[in-house]
Amino acid sequence: MDRADDYIEFSKATPTPFHAVREITQRLERDGFLPIEPNGAWSFRGGERHYVIAPDQRTVIAFAVGHKAPSEAGFRILGSHTDAPDLRLKLNPVSEGCSVTRLHTQIHGGVLYRTWLDRPLDLGGMIYHLKRDSDGRVQDDPETGLPALERHLVRANKPIAFIPELAIHLDRKVNSEGKINPEEQLVAVLGSGEQDPLLAQLSELLGHDLRTASGFDLHLFPFQDPVRVGVDGSIILGPRHDDLAMCWASCEALRASVQQCPDSDRTRVGYFVDAEEVGSMTSSGAKSSFLRHTLLRITRQHAAYGESGHQAEAAFQASLVVSADMAHAQHPNHPTKHATSHAPQINHGITIKTNANERYASTGETSALFRGLCEKAGVAFQEFVTRQDMGCGSTIGPIVAAGLGARTVDVGIPMWGMHSTFESCGVDDLNDAVLVFTQHYSS
Ligand SMILES: [Zn+2]
Repeated sequence: MDRADDYIEFSKATPTPFHAVREITQRLERDGFLPIEPNGAWSFRGGERHYVIAPDQRTVIAFAVGHKAPSEAGFRILGSHTDAPDLRLKLNPVSEGCSVTRLHTQIHGGVLYRTWLDRPLDLGGMIYHLKRDSDGRVQDDPETGLPALERHLVRANKPIAFIPELAIHLDRKVNSEGKINPEEQLVAVLGSGEQDPLLAQLSELLGHDLRTASGFDLHLFPFQDPVRVGVDGSIILGPRHDDLAMCWASCEALRASVQQCPDSDRTRVGYFVDAEEVGSMTSSGAKSSFLRHTLLRITRQHAAYGESGHQAEAAFQASLVVSADMAHAQHPNHPTKHATSHAPQINHGITIKTNANERYASTGETSALFRGLCEKAGVAFQEFVTRQDMGCGSTIGPIVAAGLGARTVDVGIPMWGMHSTFESCGVDDLNDAVLVFTQHYSS
């Protein structure tokens, strides 16, 4: 199995941010990373490896503690996002009509509507049940005093729904004008007939009763595995490359780095964060205090902190953040969407993303630093600047840079079809990403 096959396995296991956090932490545990509680007492020595999951279970920060306090040696941070544009169930999702039961959805992020039609869809996420005593009264959690909850990570693992397309005979203008109204037309068919037996079957597949759930965060996602395509198998077509491909590469780089170099002076951090697709303003998103507070706590609890004589905040000035999110490759059928001098190609190397309006955090200095890492790792790099007559996307890089005051570079591997249900990226680029990210941790 080569690295791309490992990525395919990772992709199959990470359809939602909750599943991504579980898969990433399970992989890290194989290399000695241990869980710590966000509200527990922390105390670190150099060489320890831990991860802390945010209370909402959608973001995780993993770190290999360096021998020097971060206030002295800084952090090496690698950030990527666990969410992808998708369809999530509304709070009261079920209706009946035209002899079928339907699931009503709400949109997360910049969904490319048409790519969701006529695909088998799986369902998964988190279901919450209030704990009750034998008389049915809600119990309190003895630690928090809040109502006690049971949380269940679920997945049907079957094509339980789909969203049918309209026949071209009923809309002759569909190819030229075919707009999709997401309220009315991104409603999924759960099955034939009335809802009661269908919801019972779905609950059985999930292992928990949806009908009695106190709350849920449930996502629809394609029930199709990523595949290598092209006669040479050089491209992977699959869901959620943006940004699970960079989550995978970051996780594998952190693992490779601690295997190759178990003891480092610097503290290596993997930041896998939710909600990038919707602006990062959540309790664990990049605009939250979760990263900054976690890093300050690591610094203050470090055994060498008292000796260093530094302020904890000094750790950020000595740090470098690599923000890893996918980039747009020049499209063979739409080549003019890129400026020819800034047109990343698939399987030609990782891309440094720059924008003079600071939609990306890269500067001349951090780009040069990243080029140095690429050179040391022996991998190619490319450069992306958007056409000046087009808008520019953004990512967590500027948010993290501003929140920490740390130098940051925005990079990613090039891909086609960003936000389609099936996106494409290059096998060689996946490999290069792991190599240069490992270099970032190890240099
Ligand atoms: Zn992204």
